[in-house]
Amino acid sequence: MRTFFLVLGLICLAFSAQPSEAVEVLHTYDSMKEDTQELASQYPDIAIYSEHGISTGLDLEIFSVDVALNITELTDEELNALPTMYVDGTHHGNEGMSAEASFLFLQDVLQRSAADSSYLEGKRLVVTPSVNPDGYVLDCRSNWNGVDLNRNYPYMWGMYGTSDTPNFCPVSGTYKGSSEGSEIETQVNMELMRNMNLYVYFSAHTGSNDIVLPWKITGEFAVPIADWDLYEYFLNESANVSGLTYRDPGGAGESIAWGYGARGALSLIVEVDDMQWSPLVSTTIRGALSNELLMYDMAWENLKFVGGHLQIIDESYDSVTVQNIGWGAAYNVTTGNEIIERVERNQVITLSKNYNFLQYNRLIHEGEEADLTLITMNLTSMSNPNSGTTPSIDFISITLSLAIVSALRRKK
Ligand SMILES: [Zn+2]
Repeated sequence: MRTFFLVLGLICLAFSAQPSEAVEVLHTYDSMKEDTQELASQYPDIAIYSEHGISTGLDLEIFSVDVALNITELTDEELNALPTMYVDGTHHGNEGMSAEASFLFLQDVLQRSAADSSYLEGKRLVVTPSVNPDGYVLDCRSNWNGVDLNRNYPYMWGMYGTSDTPNFCPVSGTYKGSSEGSEIETQVNMELMRNMNLYVYFSAHTGSNDIVLPWKITGEFAVPIADWDLYEYFLNESANVSGLTYRDPGGAGESIAWGYGARGALSLIVEVDDMQWSPLVSTTIRGALSNELLMYDMAWENLKFVGGHLQIIDESYDSVTVQNIGWGAAYNVTTGNEIIERVERNQVITLSKNYNFLQYNRLIHEGEEADLTLITMNLTSMSNPNSGTTPSIDFISITLSLAIVSALRRKK
């Protein structure tokens, strides 16, 4: 027996002497919390660590890091208006690699942004490594109440692929909860997302090493995705960098169904790897997640293109010409009078200027909770060469114009 421990000790020494080839152990809840806090503290100008709620059974904090340029100088309103990518992990507590993916992506964005602020300019990243701290600590899929949190969200809740009975650790199941959004962890995550101008939402899981759509688009219970053109374009771009294929989800009431259905974000589950538990013997954690991290990078680097994105290419005192350089169509484009219902990717249009701003919707799908995809761009006010007067833009005129535009939109 003593010989056995001696050999074991020597093996451990051998691994620790060669860190690049060492067996990496996944974070625990405590070490993840500590490392996340420590990581954010290294970038005080661009990162804020915060805690949002207490888990059902073990009273553990659900923590996040918020990332934006000069973040401490922004008001809540300014921060919440920035185009945002949200990344979370361990809805299922026994899928530790999903927390690792969130953490590594956060680390990458912080490092790159510190080296070059343009990597972060004009956008916001929020990362929550563990939505289900109790499950993460206990290595359980469900939360303390035996609820599969990824079946508990209010959008399409209980429609398919869920169960009606709790599954307590170590048994795994798909219990949807006693009512939609019944669980504290679900509510905390929803409240976080409500304070974001959400463009992209990636929820990490582990198991099948692919991408999961917000709801079924084939077979029984299929519901079309209104912005499918955008999804398809995004998924093709993603496949080019990551090689990951996509599929229908196995159950309803998932966080991503709510992310797109209620909050209007391009929402996908990223099933980060086919291994769920440590140790990793043949690679590092980063090595095992390389494809997924490439997909995260691609989404982050192209965040503003996720949807219609109009760019002004010419403007005179009475007209404006824009091109849609986004990955999806732009909808209901107007400067206050005529409304162009759909502007395709790459399409160029010219509108007569009735007001000093241009409005459009980034997506055709409007979030269940509000019209979250409306973009307003100020136009340059230029004098009419014949009249010599310059229209003034002040608060009152913009407010009046917005009221007129919304009345026009309602009339449609
Ligand atoms: Zn999962």
